[in-house]
Amino acid sequence: ATPTAVMVATGVGASNGVLIKGGDALERAQKIKHVVFDKTGTLTQGKASVTTAKVFTEMSRGEFLKLVASAEAGSEHPLGKAILEYASHFHFFDGSPSHSKKGQNQAMELKHPGWLFDVSDFSALPGKGVQCSIKGKPILVGNRKLLTENRIAIPTHVENFVVELEDSAKTGILVAFNNIVIGVLGVADPLKREASVVIEGLVKMGVNPVMVTGDNWRTARAVAKEVGIQDVRAEVMPAGKADVIHSFQKGGSVVAMVGDGINDSPALAAADVGMAIGAGTDIAIEAADFVLMRNNLEDVITAIDLSRKTFSRIR
Ligand code: ADP
Ligand code: MG
Repeated sequence: ATPTAVMVATGVGASNGVLIKGGDALERAQKIKHVVFDKTGTLTQGKASVTTAKVFTEMSRGEFLKLVASAEAGSEHPLGKAILEYASHFHFFDGSPSHSKKGQNQAMELKHPGWLFDVSDFSALPGKGVQCSIKGKPILVGNRKLLTENRIAIPTHVENFVVELEDSAKTGILVAFNNIVIGVLGVADPLKREASVVIEGLVKMGVNPVMVTGDNWRTARAVAKEVGIQDVRAEVMPAGKADVIHSFQKGGSVVAMVGDGINDSPALAAADVGMAIGAGTDIAIEAADFVLMRNNLEDVITAIDLSRKTFSRIR
């Protein structure tokens, strides 16, 4: 293709909301063999919401949610935000005997969450959850790995409950307070409307769709099944996503990565073609070759089509 053709293609991309950062990446896109999708915020809407909160001790629901929300208050993870929103709703609309707290006050309290417990020693553990101390006792909120690494036993009835959530495509979040599992939350994050159509389209184009996620295997398989992806890699720690890309590149295949998060940026950089979701984090956008400004997965196909049309020898 001539430089003019590349310029024209870049313009066509831009008018479709596909920001193309360089002619080289545009040229590589025609040969894409595998497209690796991040799950959360890429295939899914990234709008997690709590669907279940189960307490396994004598503790009241309000107290349980207050504890979990306090632990997650310092988290920037979508799961943390979902928990905080759910708990504050419970506190201000269902759990509180006083009706005077409603309305404007709630918005204010969300920004200055004075209703939460004081937290000390907070740390966010990427790919696992959060930990801190409340009332001088340790609290852990996250996945199995987080609990087992802290040598906290997961009773069979709790494990069974988590498995049930995961089989229905939800993420189970375990809560341990003072070294004992006190409850579980179920979080759902619906697929983007166009996701399964795009996966079907890629397969028709001869491209292999793959899903990679830090989430657990059961939830990952359930979501992959819903969207129509057969090739799944789950329980991948943030640093491992780039390794997944490298494994597909072996044998010279051209690999694209589509992602939105900070933890996707090494994989976006490692891929032959990195595509960032426009609504994603700045770090992901910087690491990518293409930015999908409309946040619509159909534009993965738009980008490959554009490259194929621009660089095809048969014109
Ligand atoms: P993804 O690749 O799907 O974006 P992450 O690597 O961000 O996933 O997280 C992987 C898993 O770690 C989550 O599915 C969840 O179980 C756990 N996790 C991470 N952060 C949190 C948090 N703030 N609260 C609870 N669980 C968390
Ligand atoms: Mg993500």
